[in-house]
Amino acid sequence: MIGEPLLKAIKKRILLGDGAMGTMLQNMGILACPDSLNINEKLIEKVKSVHLGYLKAGSDIIQTNTFGANPVKLKACKLEDNIEEINKNAVHAVRESIGIFKKEGNSKEIFIAGDVGPLGQLLEPAGNIKYSQAVKFFTAQVKTLIENGIDVILIETIMDINEAIAAIESVKNIDNKIPIVCTLTFGENAVTMMGAKAKDAVKILQDKGADIVGANCSLGSELMIKVVREMRESDPKAKLMFQPNAGMPVLENGKTVYKESADVMFENIRKYLKYRPSIIGACCGSTPEHIKKLSSLTGHQ
Ligand SMILES: [Zn+2]
Repeated sequence: MIGEPLLKAIKKRILLGDGAMGTMLQNMGILACPDSLNINEKLIEKVKSVHLGYLKAGSDIIQTNTFGANPVKLKACKLEDNIEEINKNAVHAVRESIGIFKKEGNSKEIFIAGDVGPLGQLLEPAGNIKYSQAVKFFTAQVKTLIENGIDVILIETIMDINEAIAAIESVKNIDNKIPIVCTLTFGENAVTMMGAKAKDAVKILQDKGADIVGANCSLGSELMIKVVREMRESDPKAKLMFQPNAGMPVLENGKTVYKESADVMFENIRKYLKYRPSIIGACCGSTPEHIKKLSSLTGHQ
């Protein structure tokens, strides 16, 4: 695995992830399931424009627009029959955006992360999905992502550690070499809503095969520092990734908005650096402006 370009790159420097996709699309007035855009010839251009915005802001890693592209969530959007096309087109949309970025004279190495979000329904015993079914559902998505040539799988925004393990297992069954990043979303006190503790999650997820572990979304960049510290203290050698959202969501005039400015996020994430993260980026509510500001923390602009 050490030969994998992404794992090599994080040995040399902190990599910069990207920012939000869903809230960026919402701000453009798009209210449909974000994954459905991948099979709409016109609207996929919006997805590419978001990718390009992050590339120009300095991202080294771009996530595919596939956060909800698993069989359970797609069924809720009546798109379960389009799962292959949705995941395939998403990878190509990132690749095309990178192509445009490089044509403009940029030569740096960019990594495509196949984005895998939660199933959207709980596993047993809290819910009805059996562990083996969860593995099957994730496999349906992950298979297409891997077949289309991504560099890394990013399993993110998971609250149930068993669901994360099911997702990791689905990847390992298909490709034992592709790097896996797995990030959970934490509430107060560095514990997920389903009871997984940050300090325990580091070891468990690495044991199950994640190369890089961390946190995303959660309670914003200020409160995430507790997760950062606990994860580092629990394993001095772990490779860690953190992508907080731009503060807590607030409801304003019926719209969910995130108010953490790029400057505030920068100041908070700067405090993560002493805990030696391998990758930093941002989640819901963030924009290319946030990522551009963070790019100075990764030592290359
Ligand atoms: Zn988020």
